[in-house]
Amino acid sequence: MRPVIVQLREIREQAKKLDYFIDSEFLEARLSDVLDSTKQSSCSGTIKVEKIQGGAYVTGQVKSEIFLKCNKCLSGFNYNIPEHFSFVLLRSPDHFKDETELKSGDLDVVYFSGEQIDLTDHIVDHLILEIPMNPVCSEDCTGIQYDSKIPPEFHTDPRWEGLRKIAGIDNSVTDNNS
Ligand SMILES: [Zn+2]
Repeated sequence: MRPVIVQLREIREQAKKLDYFIDSEFLEARLSDVLDSTKQSSCSGTIKVEKIQGGAYVTGQVKSEIFLKCNKCLSGFNYNIPEHFSFVLLRSPDHFKDETELKSGDLDVVYFSGEQIDLTDHIVDHLILEIPMNPVCSEDCTGIQYDSKIPPEFHTDPRWEGLRKIAGIDNSVTDNNS
Protein backbone atom coordinates (compact mmCIF):
# COMPACT_ATOMS: atom_id res chain seq x y z
CA MET A 1 0.00 0.00 0.00
CA ARG A 2 1.27 3.43 -0.93
CA PRO A 3 1.69 5.80 2.04
CA VAL A 4 -0.02 9.19 1.84
CA ILE A 5 2.75 11.73 2.20
CA VAL A 6 2.42 15.47 1.96
CA GLN A 7 5.30 17.92 1.54
CA LEU A 8 4.45 21.11 3.38
CA ARG A 9 6.27 23.37 0.95
CA GLU A 10 3.96 22.13 -1.80
CA ILE A 11 0.92 23.67 -0.16
CA ARG A 12 2.13 27.24 0.27
CA GLU A 13 -0.41 28.95 -1.95
CA GLN A 14 -2.64 26.31 -3.34
CA ALA A 15 -4.40 23.48 -1.58
CA LYS A 16 -2.95 20.10 -2.44
CA LYS A 17 -5.11 17.15 -3.37
CA LEU A 18 -3.96 13.58 -2.82
CA ASP A 19 -5.59 10.27 -3.54
CA TYR A 20 -5.40 7.52 -0.99
CA PHE A 21 -6.21 3.85 -0.86
CA ILE A 22 -6.30 1.82 2.36
CA ASP A 23 -6.17 -1.86 1.50
CA SER A 24 -7.71 -4.83 3.31
CA GLU A 25 -4.40 -5.94 4.81
CA PHE A 26 -3.90 -2.59 6.50
CA LEU A 27 -7.49 -2.55 7.79
CA GLU A 28 -7.27 -6.15 9.01
CA ALA A 29 -4.22 -5.27 11.07
CA ARG A 30 -6.18 -2.62 12.93
CA LEU A 31 -9.68 -4.07 12.91
CA SER A 32 -9.37 -7.84 12.89
CA ASP A 33 -11.95 -8.20 15.71
CA VAL A 34 -14.80 -6.62 13.81
CA LEU A 35 -14.07 -7.18 10.11
CA ASP A 36 -15.67 -9.97 8.14
CA SER A 37 -12.48 -11.78 7.16
CA THR A 38 -14.13 -13.61 4.26
CA LYS A 39 -14.46 -10.34 2.33
CA GLN A 40 -11.97 -7.73 1.19
CA SER A 41 -12.59 -4.41 2.92
CA SER A 42 -11.03 -1.23 1.63
CA CYS A 43 -11.28 2.54 1.80
CA SER A 44 -10.30 5.06 -0.81
CA GLY A 45 -10.81 8.70 -1.57
CA THR A 46 -9.20 12.08 -1.84
CA ILE A 47 -7.80 14.39 0.77
CA LYS A 48 -7.32 18.12 0.41
CA VAL A 49 -4.54 19.77 2.42
CA GLU A 50 -4.72 23.54 2.91
CA LYS A 51 -2.19 25.74 4.60
CA ILE A 52 -3.28 27.45 7.79
CA GLN A 53 -1.36 29.43 10.41
CA GLY A 54 1.08 27.02 12.07
CA GLY A 55 0.16 23.97 10.05
CA ALA A 56 -2.43 22.63 7.66
CA TYR A 57 -6.09 21.72 7.49
CA VAL A 58 -6.94 18.32 6.03
CA THR A 59 -10.35 17.42 4.68
CA GLY A 60 -11.01 13.98 3.31
CA GLN A 61 -13.68 12.34 1.23
CA VAL A 62 -14.27 8.60 1.75
CA LYS A 63 -15.48 5.81 -0.46
CA SER A 64 -15.64 2.72 1.71
CA GLU A 65 -16.20 -0.97 1.16
CA ILE A 66 -16.24 -2.13 4.75
CA PHE A 67 -17.53 -5.55 5.66
CA LEU A 68 -18.17 -6.18 9.34
CA LYS A 69 -19.15 -9.29 11.24
CA CYS A 70 -22.41 -8.98 13.19
CA ASN A 71 -21.83 -9.55 16.89
CA LYS A 72 -25.25 -11.17 17.32
CA CYS A 73 -25.82 -13.40 14.28
CA LEU A 74 -22.17 -13.57 13.08
CA SER A 75 -23.12 -12.87 9.49
CA GLY A 76 -21.17 -10.41 7.39
CA PHE A 77 -22.69 -7.12 6.33
CA ASN A 78 -21.67 -4.00 4.48
CA TYR A 79 -21.11 -0.99 6.72
CA ASN A 80 -21.12 2.54 5.37
CA ILE A 81 -18.91 5.01 7.12
CA PRO A 82 -19.51 8.77 6.82
CA GLU A 83 -18.19 10.22 3.58
CA HIS A 84 -16.20 13.09 5.06
CA PHE A 85 -13.60 13.69 7.74
CA SER A 86 -11.29 16.50 8.70
CA PHE A 87 -8.41 17.23 11.04
CA VAL A 88 -5.86 19.92 11.76
CA LEU A 89 -2.11 19.44 11.47
CA LEU A 90 -0.13 21.60 13.86
CA ARG A 91 3.62 21.94 14.09
CA SER A 92 4.70 20.57 17.45
CA PRO A 93 5.98 23.26 19.82
CA ASP A 94 9.77 23.34 20.30
CA HIS A 95 9.65 22.18 23.91
CA PHE A 96 8.09 18.91 22.76
CA LYS A 97 11.17 18.06 20.72
CA ASP A 98 12.76 15.66 23.19
CA GLU A 99 9.69 13.52 23.59
CA THR A 100 9.67 10.42 21.47
CA GLU A 101 5.98 10.36 20.84
CA LEU A 102 3.48 13.15 20.87
CA LYS A 103 -0.01 12.35 21.93
CA SER A 104 -2.89 14.67 21.50
CA GLY A 105 -6.04 14.06 23.51
CA ASP A 106 -8.00 15.68 20.77
CA LEU A 107 -7.89 13.46 17.70
CA ASP A 108 -8.88 16.33 15.46
CA VAL A 109 -5.49 17.88 16.09
CA VAL A 110 -2.41 16.03 14.89
CA TYR A 111 1.08 17.28 15.74
CA PHE A 112 3.91 16.98 13.29
CA SER A 113 7.52 18.01 12.86
CA GLY A 114 9.69 18.36 9.79
CA GLU A 115 8.54 19.25 6.31
CA GLN A 116 7.21 15.91 5.18
CA ILE A 117 4.16 14.37 6.86
CA ASP A 118 2.98 10.81 6.48
CA LEU A 119 -0.81 11.02 6.75
CA THR A 120 -1.60 7.33 6.27
CA ASP A 121 -2.07 6.47 9.94
CA HIS A 122 -3.99 9.65 10.64
CA ILE A 123 -6.42 8.90 7.83
CA VAL A 124 -6.87 5.33 9.09
CA ASP A 125 -7.40 6.64 12.65
CA HIS A 126 -10.27 8.76 11.44
CA LEU A 127 -11.84 5.96 9.46
CA ILE A 128 -11.56 3.57 12.39
CA LEU A 129 -13.29 6.04 14.70
CA GLU A 130 -16.39 5.61 12.58
CA ILE A 131 -16.48 1.85 12.86
CA PRO A 132 -18.45 0.38 15.79
CA MET A 133 -16.56 -1.95 18.09
CA ASN A 134 -19.73 -4.02 18.61
CA PRO A 135 -21.18 -4.13 15.12
CA VAL A 136 -24.74 -5.38 14.64
CA CYS A 137 -26.14 -6.02 11.15
CA SER A 138 -29.49 -4.40 11.86
CA GLU A 139 -31.42 -3.00 14.82
CA ASP A 140 -33.78 -5.94 14.83
CA CYS A 141 -31.17 -8.66 14.43
CA THR A 142 -32.46 -11.62 16.40
CA GLY A 143 -29.09 -13.31 16.73
CA ILE A 144 -28.08 -16.80 15.71
CA GLN A 145 -30.90 -18.85 14.23
CA TYR A 146 -30.72 -22.37 15.63
CA ASP A 147 -32.31 -25.37 14.03
CA SER A 148 -35.57 -25.87 15.95
CA LYS A 149 -35.23 -29.67 15.69
CA ILE A 150 -32.13 -29.56 17.86
CA PRO A 151 -32.92 -29.20 21.59
CA PRO A 152 -31.52 -25.99 23.15
CA GLU A 153 -28.95 -27.87 25.28
CA PHE A 154 -27.26 -28.98 22.02
CA HIS A 155 -27.10 -25.49 20.55
CA THR A 156 -23.53 -24.48 19.93
CA ASP A 157 -21.94 -21.25 19.00
CA PRO A 158 -20.92 -21.63 15.32
CA ARG A 159 -17.62 -19.93 16.16
CA TRP A 160 -16.58 -23.22 17.81
CA GLU A 161 -17.38 -25.28 14.72
CA GLY A 162 -13.77 -25.31 13.52
CA LEU A 163 -12.54 -26.54 16.89
CA ARG A 164 -15.17 -29.27 17.01
CA LYS A 165 -14.01 -30.54 13.64
CA ILE A 166 -10.39 -30.57 14.80
CA ALA A 167 -11.39 -32.44 17.98
CA GLY A 168 -13.40 -34.92 15.91
CA ILE A 169 -16.64 -34.24 17.78
CA ASP A 170 -19.69 -35.23 15.81
CA ASN A 171 -22.20 -32.44 16.25
CA SER A 172 -25.02 -33.91 14.20
CA VAL A 173 -28.22 -34.96 15.93
CA THR A 174 -29.77 -38.05 14.40
CA ASP A 175 -33.45 -38.00 13.69
CA ASN A 176 -35.03 -40.86 15.72
CA ASN A 177 -38.58 -40.30 14.51
CA SER A 178 -38.20 -42.36 11.34
ZN1 LIG B 1 -26.99 -9.81 12.87
